[in-house]
Amino acid sequence: MAASTDPRVLVINSGSSSLKFQLLAPADGTVEATGIVERVGQGQGNAAIEAGERESSFEGPVPDHKEAMKIVERLFGEVGLSLSDDRIRAVGHRVVQGGARYSNPVLIDEQVRWDIHDLGKLAPLHNYAAVDGIDGAQALLPDVPHVAVFDTAFFTALPEAAANYALNREIAKQYRVRRYGAHGTSHQFVSQAVSSHLASQGRDVSDLRQVVMHLGNGASASAVRGGEAVETSMGLTPLEGLVMGTRTGDIDPTIYIHLHRQAGFGPEEIDDILNKRSGMMGMCGMNDFRDITAAVEAGDEAATLAMDVYVHRLRKYLGSYSFVLGSLDVIAFTAGIGENVPMVREKLLTGLERFGIELDLEANAARSKEMRVISTPESEVTVMIVPTDEELSIARQASEVARQLAG
Ligand code: ADP
Repeated sequence: MAASTDPRVLVINSGSSSLKFQLLAPADGTVEATGIVERVGQGQGNAAIEAGERESSFEGPVPDHKEAMKIVERLFGEVGLSLSDDRIRAVGHRVVQGGARYSNPVLIDEQVRWDIHDLGKLAPLHNYAAVDGIDGAQALLPDVPHVAVFDTAFFTALPEAAANYALNREIAKQYRVRRYGAHGTSHQFVSQAVSSHLASQGRDVSDLRQVVMHLGNGASASAVRGGEAVETSMGLTPLEGLVMGTRTGDIDPTIYIHLHRQAGFGPEEIDDILNKRSGMMGMCGMNDFRDITAAVEAGDEAATLAMDVYVHRLRKYLGSYSFVLGSLDVIAFTAGIGENVPMVREKLLTGLERFGIELDLEANAARSKEMRVISTPESEVTVMIVPTDEELSIARQASEVARQLAG
């Protein structure tokens, strides 16, 4: 538990229609306040904060992310905290798209702000919201460094063979079409946690080969060798790759053209279908795995098929990433589904003994919030569950940039 006088970092995560915030101590991850503003830009919004025993909430219009920050300030006041608190040494902003350029967290100056806005062409749902969140936070906390932590940063060093689409070279260059990935903060945090854990047990981790599965509402897989990402499943946007809560993941791009020609859908409608009305929700009408697993156990046909499609996609990625890596030492699961749904892990990994993967079914079924191994001692591949903590990672990176500035 951090001392009450220890430095704090405010972490801001501006999503397309929400703004999540957390005030925490980067030294040990103690969370002092956490909350969310929801339905930003959608008429009637709502917000809530929790700070230890104290709570507060808000209902009313939240026209944009700048206004959302004012609501955050108000909620802080209502639980006896203040954004003018001089323990707050930095603000860390999660930014989804940093392009090919931003491979590290950076202090947000005019140029960086402009670049984040410009990269909104690649991530319109997220980067414009992030700029508004930054503007709103800078107005309220003008005297502390604001740091952008990019979701794409961990993947800027992907090998060219993995980062390029086989698209016409000139067109790809002109429109900056390449595979940027996403969830990088989580993939980096989890793969580093795995390495440190195994190193502490005396394993040589200099060339450790991992597949990290971040399975939340958004989902992505990465292949990491010796701490460097060599593949990842999200591409130009977070739509590519695994089956997700409401996104298709990989599809034949011609489906887009087919829907346009046959159904007359325009780009906005197709974007909506692929990103918000597909995936698990589109296949079985549910995207919470608590409901989906219960439906599968009850024999529901649509849920069973959706689960089969979900797991089949994971298997294809696990297999292909093992080959990209040349061999496999670790499979690490993280995020809401990765950490909490034994059925997904069991269906994915059963029958892969021939490839050195032996799941310990009892350990897999056990509930815990701790990092843990769920493979048998004989398994050549170590299977782990590693709770992700993107806020802590962002707080630590922002704090480090602030420390370098001060020093
Ligand atoms: P995101 O940050 O992308 O919104 P999360 O990592 O929070 O996603 O994961 C959210 C999803 O995780 C939920 O939609 C639900 O499917 C699943 N989930 C979370 N907790 C549990 C649980 N205890 N049991 C089953 N599924 C869970």
